[in-house]
Amino acid sequence: MNVILLLQMAADAAPDRIGLVCDGRRWTYSALYNAAKGAAEVFIASGCSHVALLDESSEAAPIALFGAALAGIPYVPLNYRLADADLGALLDRIKPAYLIGDVDRSNRLSSGHTCATRQEFVAAAEDSAENASGEERDGEGIAAQIFTSGTTAAPKAALLRHANLLGYILGTVEFMSAAEEDAQLVCVPPYHIAGISALLSSIYALRRIVMLPAFDPDQWLHLAEQEQVSNAFLVPTMFARIINRMDETGKQDLPSVKAIAYGGGRMPLELIDRALDLFPNTHFTNAYGLTETSSTVALLTPEDHRTAHKASDPDIKARLASVGKPLPTVELEIRDDEGKVLGAGERGEIYVRGEQVSGEYREKSALDAQGWFPTRDAGYLDADGYLFLAGRADDVIVRGGENISPGEIEDVLATHPAIADSVAIGAPSAEWGEAVAVAIVLKTDQMPPSEDDIKKLIKDRLRSSRVPEQIRFVDELPYNEMGKLLRRVVRLWFEG
Ligand code: ATP
Repeated sequence: MNVILLLQMAADAAPDRIGLVCDGRRWTYSALYNAAKGAAEVFIASGCSHVALLDESSEAAPIALFGAALAGIPYVPLNYRLADADLGALLDRIKPAYLIGDVDRSNRLSSGHTCATRQEFVAAAEDSAENASGEERDGEGIAAQIFTSGTTAAPKAALLRHANLLGYILGTVEFMSAAEEDAQLVCVPPYHIAGISALLSSIYALRRIVMLPAFDPDQWLHLAEQEQVSNAFLVPTMFARIINRMDETGKQDLPSVKAIAYGGGRMPLELIDRALDLFPNTHFTNAYGLTETSSTVALLTPEDHRTAHKASDPDIKARLASVGKPLPTVELEIRDDEGKVLGAGERGEIYVRGEQVSGEYREKSALDAQGWFPTRDAGYLDADGYLFLAGRADDVIVRGGENISPGEIEDVLATHPAIADSVAIGAPSAEWGEAVAVAIVLKTDQMPPSEDDIKKLIKDRLRSSRVPEQIRFVDELPYNEMGKLLRRVVRLWFEG
């Protein structure tokens, strides 16, 4: 089993169909497949053990991914936004790599790699395509090594096997019908699992991939219209920026866009409610997944969205805040700290099992003996099997032995008219082990609350252990480019 199968099938079934549009160039499926075969020759000749991409999204990403698959070595897309010290450490962990992209930076931070700019690599792959055998080399079965976002701690090197990625495709087949003219706008960075899963599923569904090298709401709106895009994946912050931009420019709709999937972080309820009103003909899907699970393991379908949006029954309405049900190929359980499986409505840690679940890191596997992966996400299932997330296990504040979910406090803070954004974390405390600390961003056009006002707001709504002992007003909170709030950075503010 090898992911190259997906590109081979596309090139066999529709060789002349446009498979990729990037930077003005249009690639047919057969041209992409040939370039991947050429890339494999280039990688094998280099003798390298990894193929690394240190660049924005471009045609180099699929060509390198599939070329590496044919050459039997892992594809490692790297986060070019990392600081030098962090990136250097990752480069040293994948030696020797055939590195595509920022040659100067790579040479400055690490040594021993074979480096090529994106243009040099694509030209070399196309040159080698003519005499390429297209034969699959045996490797360790690892298609990609992806460093996790590092939201909670240092990035982990998650290994995704060919079987995991193909297992993911199999699990989502029923949600992936595509018409001949369908096009998927890919705007997430190539180093994130969502960037890889979007490529694979579009190629499987024979959709035209329209690539936006780096997200920008104006360019996204322009490309969506110019290329008559039908499908897109967005993280919530991108979604919000697109809707704000439409408001500012008076743009009313996205006529060609039939389906938008979103995920990677919590979608604010008001935003999805608003989108459902604004775009009554667009199908929305909330996709929940992790790097270690080859992306989506559960989803809230378009039908669920419409039903919940219109419902008067509060239990059904509440489903709009859920991430839906597990894929048919994924098993999901909620467990307590002792590993006991919990029932409906009971909060615990989410465990998943299935073909697409790798749970394997460079150093060790996180799977238990029965193949279950602990996601470190807290959540619960309702009586109808809808999954609700309740923060990350690592974010729980343990104050004097009592577990406090930051979400409880943040939800209350969000009700204050002068608070634009907030985060609650556990700050070191000699008395309690951890004490509740909050960082708050204020709206500029409202009367600012005092620290006592904030404490009273929480005290009136929650137990006294939730009242923050430390409060800081800040200009902004640290989000990464995927819209993830970096709580570890906020913790450092309070440790200092
Ligand atoms: P690290 O493991 O290094 O801390 P990370 O877990 O943020 O980084 P990813 O694998 O990119 O790295 O993110 C997965 C996490 O994103 C999930 O565990 C979950 O907390 C969050 N997430 C993913 N999809 C959704 C969604 N649809 N709604 C809410 N949160 C989501």
